[in-house]
Amino acid sequence: MSEKQALQLVCASCGAVNRVPASRLADRPVCGKCKSLILSGEAINVGDANFARWLQKNDLPVVVDFWAPWCGPCVSFAPVYKDVAKRWAGRARFLKLDTEAQPVTAGQYQIRSIPTLMVFSQGREVVRNAGALPPAQFEQWLANYLPRH
Ligand SMILES: [Zn+2]
Repeated sequence: MSEKQALQLVCASCGAVNRVPASRLADRPVCGKCKSLILSGEAINVGDANFARWLQKNDLPVVVDFWAPWCGPCVSFAPVYKDVAKRWAGRARFLKLDTEAQPVTAGQYQIRSIPTLMVFSQGREVVRNAGALPPAQFEQWLANYLPRH
């Protein structure tokens, strides 16, 4: 990746698409539209209306936690996901999709068990894992599919 290359990144707050030089990812880039941190370090709740945009307009890999509020393992996994989203903020975008409230996307990706964790690159599925993972295993799993910085 060259220093001058700009990455498209969707703002976590307003959804605007920003272009950020690859060399500036660690410098807490701010959204040109709403002035919030683009890489907020939060796991971002997305839905059927904006999921495709998030996949297609991010040049960083996109990690998705397909979950539901009634699913015990999903709820237990949420703090793990939140923690990893914060610590890996410059390496990937971390999304959460509530499969109960947002069934179209869950159907499109044939999510049969939850939680299902998926990694996308340039809009395409790279890998999925059915079931929650303990923290260390989740990070090992991600490390296999996310570029190093
Ligand atoms: Zn914004």
